[in-house]
Amino acid sequence: MMVKFLDLKCQFDEIEEELREAIDSVILQSAFIKGPFLKKFEENFASYIGVPFCIGVGNGTDALEIAMEALNLPSGSEILVPALTFIASSEAVTRSGHKVVFCDIDRGDYTISIEDARRRITDKTKAIMAVHLYGHPCNMDAISELAHEFDLKVIEDCAQAHGSEYKGKRVGGFGDVATFSFFPGKNLGAYGDGGCVVCREENLATKTRMIANHGRIGKYDHEFEGRNSRLDGLQAAILDVKLRHLDDWIERRIAVADVYLSELHDIEQIVLPTRKNWAKQAYHLFVIQSPKRDELREFLGKRDIQTGIHYPVALPKLSAYAYLDQSHENMFANEIDARILSLPIGDHMVMEDAVFVAEAIRNFFGDRHCQ
Ligand SMILES: *Cc1c(COP(=O)(O)O)cnc(C)c1O
Repeated sequence: MMVKFLDLKCQFDEIEEELREAIDSVILQSAFIKGPFLKKFEENFASYIGVPFCIGVGNGTDALEIAMEALNLPSGSEILVPALTFIASSEAVTRSGHKVVFCDIDRGDYTISIEDARRRITDKTKAIMAVHLYGHPCNMDAISELAHEFDLKVIEDCAQAHGSEYKGKRVGGFGDVATFSFFPGKNLGAYGDGGCVVCREENLATKTRMIANHGRIGKYDHEFEGRNSRLDGLQAAILDVKLRHLDDWIERRIAVADVYLSELHDIEQIVLPTRKNWAKQAYHLFVIQSPKRDELREFLGKRDIQTGIHYPVALPKLSAYAYLDQSHENMFANEIDARILSLPIGDHMVMEDAVFVAEAIRNFFGDRHCQ
């Protein structure tokens, strides 16, 4: 038996007919850039998230950069970013002319620590980036309160959290602006790059759309210099089909997570992810901690169980951020990168797969008991 970390072919087989039909329609109508398929997906995704505006863009990284630019913060602003996330979250800050300030993460749910973020606020701090890491929603009430108190903008990076909910409401509707990635391996993935920005405010939506499309609304009325970052018609049509299945797929992820949580709860040598009571966790990733991470990973690999590490190096320790001099700060994020392991999870898995993985992990620690 083999348990893959990701199996997009398996998902394709499940919805092949719908997908082929959608792809054919786009080609027959030559609706490759803009057009009805993009419009329909933008509307459907906005309503799924529960916001009025969705703007498709080229990928999740562009989405963050464009959102940052649309917020129009004074150049050189300090932006609070969690120290454990994909580099795109902080890249967007620097590339839009601002300064990254890394904050520690919560020891329970791995999202940005509100206490640590508060400590780092200065006169120059203008925004906080709430990354719903692994699919676990950030504490949005606490973030909103902090933002209100210090007049900060809130950017939600929802790249890993399509369908996650905070207090019964989908993430993406809490911040001033929120971004999604449709990278193929995300919970909702295209067949190539894709992303979007969502927001509640019309002016911000218009600005975002203009930045992503050469600073224009009509064909040649460029009001300012923007860029070209678009979600194309084929990807939009594919995503629109997949969106109809997203909630079912998330239920499967939750079912796999529940197997892991119940089968592994009594193993003292690992730390399981916790789920805050406000959270519907869409489980983009299921991350455990073990001091024997590398050995465990190798042991599972030999049994054809694929795992991942998200992320092997906390951002402050990357060469790219040596200049910030935060690598030696006493942060949980700076030490946990040596212990985290992402177990396979996804809509391609059935319960037997999850039980198989859990048993292998039990065996690994069982073997150690006997030595
Ligand atoms: C994947 C990801 C991104 C970037 O998305 P791309 O579509 O790959 O550019 C940004 N932030 C986080 C947290 C991600 O996981």
